[in-house]
Amino acid sequence: MMAARRLTTTFAALALISVIGCAPSEGAVTGPGGGSTSAPGHAAASPGSGVDRSDTVGAPGIGDPTFPLDGNGGYDVGHYTLKLSYDPASKMLAGSTSIQAKAVQDLSRFDLDLHGFTVSRVTVGNSDATFTRDGDELVVTAPKMIAKDAPFTVTVDYSGVPDPVRNSSNLGSYGFIPTPDGAFVTAEPDGAKTWFPSNDHPSDKATYDFEITVPAGLTAIANGEQVGEPTTSGGKTTFVWREKHPMASYLATMTTGKFDVRTGTSPGGIPVYAATDPKYRNTLDLLYTKTAQITDYWTTVFGPYPFSSTGGVVDAYEAGYALENQTKPIYGGFAPDSGIIAHELAHQWFGDSLSIKRWQDLWLNEGFASYAEWLWSEHSGGSTADQMFQKSYADTANAMWSYPPGKAQRDDLFNDSVYTRGAMTLHALRKEIGDDAFFTLIKKWAATYKYGNVTTDEFIAMAEKTSGKKLGPLFDAWLFQPTRPALG
Ligand SMILES: [Zn+2]
Repeated sequence: MMAARRLTTTFAALALISVIGCAPSEGAVTGPGGGSTSAPGHAAASPGSGVDRSDTVGAPGIGDPTFPLDGNGGYDVGHYTLKLSYDPASKMLAGSTSIQAKAVQDLSRFDLDLHGFTVSRVTVGNSDATFTRDGDELVVTAPKMIAKDAPFTVTVDYSGVPDPVRNSSNLGSYGFIPTPDGAFVTAEPDGAKTWFPSNDHPSDKATYDFEITVPAGLTAIANGEQVGEPTTSGGKTTFVWREKHPMASYLATMTTGKFDVRTGTSPGGIPVYAATDPKYRNTLDLLYTKTAQITDYWTTVFGPYPFSSTGGVVDAYEAGYALENQTKPIYGGFAPDSGIIAHELAHQWFGDSLSIKRWQDLWLNEGFASYAEWLWSEHSGGSTADQMFQKSYADTANAMWSYPPGKAQRDDLFNDSVYTRGAMTLHALRKEIGDDAFFTLIKKWAATYKYGNVTTDEFIAMAEKTSGKKLGPLFDAWLFQPTRPALG
């Protein structure tokens, strides 16, 4: 994620207000200790249901203290199959989502995350299941007990006009956002539930098949690669896409509308898919060329590209931000420069292939992607990473010094500190351990946790092991203390 125009002062001011504003509820929802996430099935009672929890009821949240109801407990998703049709004229989204999952406990009942829509049918295996709605939880009662470790498939048929998350603090709107010619779909942090039922949290990653039907003449863009050519009948065209590598739910997209498309292969051999709304047709070749060039360059810095294709989409919807949708970063209503393309493509390694286990560790995504902007600047003849660091360090009045980035806040996830002070943390680390150890560490980090989930503690441990140095004080000063760290 990256704001198109970084409004540091405004962001910082908002940040302080929201930290104060959300403190009581943060305290109320965080369990004692707070050091480890709850095991599935042992979280708080289902909200509002008044039903006693038993050991066979999946928890309504996956155990992230920052977002207690995001994701769910009791099962682990392996694969989503989304068969959806969208009509921009009526804004009606309809179809079915099938989820192949494995029970991680005996399961009589479990939740999916879904916001809005009319659910017409839920099946588990071949049998109809009963279901209820409780806020953004779709509560499914299994027709018969699902045994621990058993695979099962749950299918949800639904339709309705999507209701995106609106006016979120420092994000604006996200989720499934209807546009005049289609839809702009960016779901960080928890907007997948605005277009498909899911285990909507990055700690449960899965592979995806998409079968998306739109009026003929429009293009439907999803993650991964297209399977076959689109097929048209009865005035409608169906596009089939497959993301065969694990993906967090917030990185899934079905962006639709009128698009000009350019495909090919990067000089380094990676397939490229670039698409622009007709309003941004002039930027298509630049988007394609820079995406290819920068993806190739990052393979020399971060290691092998983790997915089967790279790309980028510019839509006319003025989101004011870009999001690193897996294999298809999307730019909302502006022509991206190479810095922001470098940022979103760095996320393919840091954020997409390696996903955070808890939202509080967001600096592992944004600090890395922001540092990548500095590396790209240096590589392409602009300011060096050290010059960028010194410039930020000299800004002694910046609010980020009293706002450490190591624990991102629920209502202020995308605070500038997570980006800039996060990037500075990596540069301070680089200066402490030297270039050889630093770039060895970055490649090892990307390789070791490829397609997995990570925490700040795991990064610190790997940094210490790779460098042979005790780094606790450095990380504590840069990530967790509300003061400007001294330079060593
Ligand atoms: Zn970002």
